[in-house]
Amino acid sequence: MSKRLVILGAGESGVGTAILAKAKGFDVFVSDYNQIKSKYAEQLAQQNIISESGQHTESLILNADEIVKSPGIPDSAPIIIAAREIGISIISEIEFAGRFTNAKKICITGSNGKTTTTSMIYAIYKNAGYNVGVAGNIGKSFARQVAENDFDIYILELSSFQLDGMIDFRADIAVITNITPDHLDRYDNDFQKYIDSKFKVTQNQTKNDCLIYCADDEVINCEVKKRKLEAQLLPCSIKIQGNNEIFGAGGAFVTDGEININIKNDLFTMTIRELALQGQHNTYNSMFSGIAARVNEIRKSDIRNSLADFSAIPHRLEMVCKVRGVTYINDSKATNINSTWYALESMKTPTIWIVGGVDKGNDYTELLDLVRDKVKAIICLGKDSKKIHNTFEAEIPVILDAMSMDEAINTAYNLAKKDDTVLLSPCCASFDLFDNYEDRGNQFKKYVKKL
Ligand code: ADP
Repeated sequence: MSKRLVILGAGESGVGTAILAKAKGFDVFVSDYNQIKSKYAEQLAQQNIISESGQHTESLILNADEIVKSPGIPDSAPIIIAAREIGISIISEIEFAGRFTNAKKICITGSNGKTTTTSMIYAIYKNAGYNVGVAGNIGKSFARQVAENDFDIYILELSSFQLDGMIDFRADIAVITNITPDHLDRYDNDFQKYIDSKFKVTQNQTKNDCLIYCADDEVINCEVKKRKLEAQLLPCSIKIQGNNEIFGAGGAFVTDGEININIKNDLFTMTIRELALQGQHNTYNSMFSGIAARVNEIRKSDIRNSLADFSAIPHRLEMVCKVRGVTYINDSKATNINSTWYALESMKTPTIWIVGGVDKGNDYTELLDLVRDKVKAIICLGKDSKKIHNTFEAEIPVILDAMSMDEAINTAYNLAKKDDTVLLSPCCASFDLFDNYEDRGNQFKKYVKKL
């Protein structure tokens, strides 16, 4: 009898899993507690996959041999607790799809920079002529692509929630960009649990695999020392240079305005000025990507061309346009302190900073030095701006409130002088005034273009 696979959540990853599982002969059932989007309902119907919408029927779920859970469903959901109690194995889409492909996997995780680094690595491999796919939180799900394509390499962006459901999956190359507190509500407010989840990207790695990581991140350094990692360690640093014991097996560092990538004693250098994406955080992202490419001996000229030509991804320090000599930058994806820190750090002219939304427990004092240095006025966007006022009032003479993007842009326009920058880098989630960070960024662009 065929194995029964129950898929909880009918978004891109759930429907991709259902299509793959059906093709592999499983008895498939999909259940979504919310309404299934019509596009996905049609795809399931086309493949004769049985599903339910708006409920979880226990009798159809708890008879599963295995459950694939969408990363959006927390462990505290009653159906997950019930399934665990009777010992059903619960895995992620990535774990499931990984069983059906022999492709090499380059996996990127971290608190910030995942999408940027994943896209950069993909661009380098693609431009170098590899038969490569990109998946994870980007575009089509990994499972769907395993069902429909035949790639030799996958570049996978992995969130901690996807990593949580991984057991036997092995990354050939793992990248951990940085670790700062985020999503702690899903980890019992225990930072170590979140760190452990990120480090799952290294589980099952052998000495033939690599771990690329930021050696300027104390949390990561501490974990790397603590754990017995089998993979070759390839650190990346802006602060430490050269061939000391840290870079024994290779890695990347910065000297005199150049990135240096050293793999198997073969050095690749490129000036930071040549990198398409500027800002310290993107220097890290470019170094992670360069290492991930040199490990597979991609030609230096291909890497140089890709890193120099890479186009910015929407909502990540995206330069929108100049209006009357004022530059408008959309960094709507910055939903925590760390990402906004790097945005402010990269500002080159006096900045009017649009910040605020739903705060996940931010400590804004971490930004005080940079704000003093770079910011001339603050516009608080959102329903609760008390904390922002309290933190910066003594430092910044102008702090105003706005209850919509339209109002925020008009206020910024009136405050800005020629050569200033208006930066949307909210440090917060968006769901008080917007559908999501894309909606927030798109509204920013829309009202800027109307000026
Ligand atoms: P993620 O996919 O991890 O959310 P993104 O690449 O979408 O990361 O970027 C999210 C935010 O973090 C953006 O504001 C971006 O400018 C910023 N960012 C990008 N790379 C880094 C990095 N290496 N360190 C800190 N912040 C970063």
